[in-house]
Amino acid sequence: MATAGGDADPPQPFPADLDDNGFPSLPSPPAAAGSTSVFAEDFYRSGTDWSSLRDPPPRRPPEGPPGVKAKEKEGASLVQSSLFQAWGIERPRREGGAAGHSSPVQKSLFQAWGIERPKREGVGAGDPCPSPIRSGSWSGRKRQRGGPGEAAPAAMNPRTCPFYKKIPGTPFTVDAFRYGEVEGCSAYFLSHFHHDHYGGLTKKWCHGPIFCSALTARLVKMCLSVNSDYICPLELDTEYVIEGVTVTLLEANHCPGAALIHFRLSDGKTYLHTGDFRASRSMQLHPLLQRGRVNLLYLDTTYCNPKYKFPPQEDVIDFVVRTARRYLAKQPKTLIVVGAYSIGKENVYLAISQALDVPIYTDASRRRILHSFDWPDLSKRICSCNQSSLHVLPLGSVNHENLKKYLETLNQKFVAVLAFRPTGWTFSEATGKQLDLIKPSSNGSVTIYGVPYSEHSSFTELRDFVMFLRPQVIRSVNVGNVASRDKMQAYFREWLKGS
Ligand SMILES: [Zn+2]
Repeated sequence: MATAGGDADPPQPFPADLDDNGFPSLPSPPAAAGSTSVFAEDFYRSGTDWSSLRDPPPRRPPEGPPGVKAKEKEGASLVQSSLFQAWGIERPRREGGAAGHSSPVQKSLFQAWGIERPKREGVGAGDPCPSPIRSGSWSGRKRQRGGPGEAAPAAMNPRTCPFYKKIPGTPFTVDAFRYGEVEGCSAYFLSHFHHDHYGGLTKKWCHGPIFCSALTARLVKMCLSVNSDYICPLELDTEYVIEGVTVTLLEANHCPGAALIHFRLSDGKTYLHTGDFRASRSMQLHPLLQRGRVNLLYLDTTYCNPKYKFPPQEDVIDFVVRTARRYLAKQPKTLIVVGAYSIGKENVYLAISQALDVPIYTDASRRRILHSFDWPDLSKRICSCNQSSLHVLPLGSVNHENLKKYLETLNQKFVAVLAFRPTGWTFSEATGKQLDLIKPSSNGSVTIYGVPYSEHSSFTELRDFVMFLRPQVIRSVNVGNVASRDKMQAYFREWLKGS
């Protein structure tokens, strides 16, 4: 799904807490060499879009606390000791963690995430949750609000968490950070680091542990300064037992770190939450999805309309690279621009960088995020010098007026701009999958191509995925109104006929 921050919705104004790239506002990063100007600051004042990665990030060793030795999924038994046992009374040192993990405050926090929440000591220095009420059971109790650490408006007056963000029969929610403390929730899952999913999460977060992929965990820490002790990174394809529920994250083929979340309850019921995802045949081969039926599917239905027939991402990337080569052959002093909003679309500009053997220039805030992915192939191609002929800019700034001005700031190093806007919203039924029919928008020295590079499922990909899984119930998680929800339910009924 998406609002401001996903490529799923048409452009919307930025939330106030995002910077011009769609990243959470950060302390000023160091100025980029040769890249700063008043114009540049103004120029970055726009943007809109998101997205995916075909290749999963390099496997990292489990970085959860010791004792939570996550076993790689190799068909063997994957059950492991409960996180809450492992993170209980004696919490060992966490990789890269700050000193002080064994402090009384930390200890009581982790006790709090266990079966019974113990009484808390008084509010002390460094207490991540200086709430006025300290004791009592963790679940099912409303905490008094308005303490010194709870000044955020969302926490002062939270909306009610909608049912589709709650996982029935568990104390879990998914992507439900806007509602303050959710009654009965003792584990908050985050599917991926797009604002419409993590919105509400701030450094003041103190409502319970946040479970997410390791890459998302790094972004939550780096961009939002959430207290590390609330962040619980999980490796992909690894089963964890959390509060008696077996939980596994699967690659979502959306943006870096995005995961499908698979829950298997002790009574055998199985639920799958897709977060945002782009379904594919290879996803169907995952042993966990092959193994048994899903009872309840929470589905990203962003493009659940038959008109959306996206070409494969590889085809779009090929088209972009071919087009870039063609323009450069005609005019070697052409600047190539790729629009991207926050994380996502990396494969588009990485492919251009590799094919043309040019580094990727982008501003400091995006560079910081991209380096945090820890992908050597990408990191080694990022540069801070704007003389490179490949620039990544906020998607919303990729328009004729801005690009013309941008070109002028580059001191005649370039005489033309070829820009790409990679988002599913540029899909045209008339063009369909015939990418060579895409007509660019040209105006003097600036040429812009909208290319249907989507990091959400097309209609047929959704249909195939649902028909493969045959869930008993589908809950669409991002439906704006009753009419469209009813329409989708009609599609679902059709797809599941005879199941
Ligand atoms: Zn997303």
